[in-house]
Amino acid sequence: MKKYIVLLLFLLSFSLSIHAASINVRILTTKVIKSFIFSPIIGTYDVYGDGVLLANSEVPGIFQMTIDNDSIILKTFEKTIGKYVTLKMISKQTDGTFKIKSVAPEGKVRTYEDNLSVSLVADKKQFMLVNKVEIEKYIGGVVESESGTRASLEYYKLQSILCRTYLLAHITRHTPEGFQVCDDVHCQAYLSRTTDADVKKGVAETKGLVVVDNDLNLITAAFHSNCGGQTVASQDVWSMSTSYLKSVKDTFCIHKTHAKWKRNIPLEDWRAYLQLKHKYPVDDSLKLNDATSFSQPNGRSIYFIDNELKIPLKTIRADFQLKSTYFSIDQQGESIYFTGRGYGHGVGLCQEGAMHMAEMKKSYKEILNFYYQNVHLVDLSALSYFMQE
Ligand SMILES: [Zn+2]
Ligand SMILES: [Zn+2]
Repeated sequence: MKKYIVLLLFLLSFSLSIHAASINVRILTTKVIKSFIFSPIIGTYDVYGDGVLLANSEVPGIFQMTIDNDSIILKTFEKTIGKYVTLKMISKQTDGTFKIKSVAPEGKVRTYEDNLSVSLVADKKQFMLVNKVEIEKYIGGVVESESGTRASLEYYKLQSILCRTYLLAHITRHTPEGFQVCDDVHCQAYLSRTTDADVKKGVAETKGLVVVDNDLNLITAAFHSNCGGQTVASQDVWSMSTSYLKSVKDTFCIHKTHAKWKRNIPLEDWRAYLQLKHKYPVDDSLKLNDATSFSQPNGRSIYFIDNELKIPLKTIRADFQLKSTYFSIDQQGESIYFTGRGYGHGVGLCQEGAMHMAEMKKSYKEILNFYYQNVHLVDLSALSYFMQE
């Protein structure tokens, strides 16, 4: 019993953070930005420079921020406002929305909700932009960035639950760097806010729901684009065995966009790779035959042919940047052909399979339980209510 009280308190701390509602997301993480434009789209923003209120910006106010000798120059079209170490753009409404466009280097317009804080990274050579945004709005942006806008509402409910679970399990990942999560696939892709009605509905209708395992721990909510017909157990990719990420046969994705792929490389490159990286005896013609004809007829394998060498397929996938480890190899003339199935690491939810299941009117709970075993949905809002009683 004591264990469950501790776990309930642990989850409660997440539930409070979900209702206290905001998260600090570093945006444009992978871009080295030296100058950008900020402009509100909805509402009024107060602009603070080093803690002092400088201006408020109504639509269509435009501010440009540029790095200059270890500090940030803030300008409008008309004038230079000043030089600062940090700037904050704080929305005065709950629906505040702004756009950002990188000027140096040239970048696309991206839109976000709520607040923005602007500083420089430690070496002062690029901006650190942090979007302080309500968690549920962030989840909407992630769901759209990770799965597009063409799926059905039922699918978006499930994807929202998984993205929320993933966030809460990784919520302190970047704390030492001054934010909580980044907007790159390292955490979860977050390219913009969402404006899609079904994505928003999927997030709203599952508000506070997360997935836990039998021990009430938040699960590693792994997902990938297409499994090619069979998902992969977590220990075969990450050497981490879990009770809920097992391999399942999946026929729902096998006719979808990313179900099949092909790639070819010169035979010489393949020989050199095996010999140099894996010390494979390619001069032995029988051995070379083995290495130029390979298939996985009875489902996914973990290793490439030679039982002694045991080259993990995931190593070959990484070295040749293949879409998946679920491939066969054959030689035609002076080329090696990879014929593959699926796209991604293959662990957990197969997005294209799950989208198809949702189109077939399966409920998000049925889809969840198909791809993850022995898991449970927990409503953090209910938990919070229960704890306050
Ligand atoms: Zn990250
Ligand atoms: Zn699949």
